[in-house]
Amino acid sequence: MSKQILVLPGDGIGPEIIKEAVAVLVAVNKKHNLGLELVDGLIGGAAIDQHGVPYPDETHAKAMNADAVLLGAVGGPKWDALDTAIRPEKGLLAIRSKLKLFGNLRPAILYPQLASASSLKADIVSGLDLLIVRELTGGIYFGEPRGIRTLENGEREGYNTYKYSESEIRRIAVVAFEAAMKRNKKLCSVDKANVLEATVLWREIVEEVAKDYPEVELSHMYVDNAAMQLVRAPKQFDVMVTGNMFGDILSDCAAMLTGSIGMLPSASLDQNGKGMYEPIHGSAPDIMNQNKANPLATILSVSMMLRYSFGFAEVADEIELAVSKVLDKNIRTLDIQSEGCTIVGTKE
Ligand code: ATP
Ligand code: MG
Repeated sequence: MSKQILVLPGDGIGPEIIKEAVAVLVAVNKKHNLGLELVDGLIGGAAIDQHGVPYPDETHAKAMNADAVLLGAVGGPKWDALDTAIRPEKGLLAIRSKLKLFGNLRPAILYPQLASASSLKADIVSGLDLLIVRELTGGIYFGEPRGIRTLENGEREGYNTYKYSESEIRRIAVVAFEAAMKRNKKLCSVDKANVLEATVLWREIVEEVAKDYPEVELSHMYVDNAAMQLVRAPKQFDVMVTGNMFGDILSDCAAMLTGSIGMLPSASLDQNGKGMYEPIHGSAPDIMNQNKANPLATILSVSMMLRYSFGFAEVADEIELAVSKVLDKNIRTLDIQSEGCTIVGTKE
């Protein structure tokens, strides 16, 4: 049976990096007869230009119909003057929440060839391979009530609500334990249970889910300590699971350990494993159309898609090996350039 992939290049360097990732998809599809079918769609600024909205109904219908989505990036100075309600970034939030993509997987892998590009010393990061599982559709980013209100004394007050229901915690915990089972059976849950009640419940439910995964070694860590440990001794972690905001911050932290934001892929999954795959970086308008964009984060996102949405683990391994071989040959984009390397872009 054919598997449909919706391809949404978006804006900025989006089309440049997606072109390379699609070339990889087409190549493995042909080589291994995977039965993949690609469909194009519009999101972000590209969609605003044609339809006046960042996530048109037509794109949503295609996304619902597809088995997986491959996304480039959205946004750019061209649309900065627009009202925040119809900015390109709204398109990204809309597709994540409309497809209920609550499970965000962000692997941070240091390719040995890039050890010198890491922000940490080689002996601390060599062999680094960790996975951050971030809850993506709840927590303080979505909690109501929220806003800025005027108090009786005339002073203004900003407020947000940090909340997670038991079912929201349980489903992300299951994603994390399942991922841990496929890796080294080690999971660290990150919270702030010494201060925030919402995360006391988080810890309780994670413990409850742990009973179904007796083989997984579970630990808990407060987020402040986790941030410190990530930059002190990141290799102590294998899988980390946390809420929306802590996950946002910790995964940026982890990104810097691997050398370049242009190297990191991500998967955002729903309850049934249907997913959207995208590089963690943005549309990088500062380097668009200059043949400078690193397509590897997007190519590695294709690998995640084949692994997580379609179960083609061997093909995913093959793509990751190919990335490693390219780095071995010292072929680099500008962001990961090294001495004596051959600089390439997305044009050749
Ligand atoms: P967003 O809000 O969409 O996440 P951002 O403002 O965080 O965007 P990015 O678009 O991620 O920023 O870019 C941050 C920096 O990293 C820029 O200088 C950009 O040129 C660089 N960068 C991002 N992606 C790549 C890439 N694939 N290859 C090379 N450099 C990149
Ligand atoms: Mg960003």
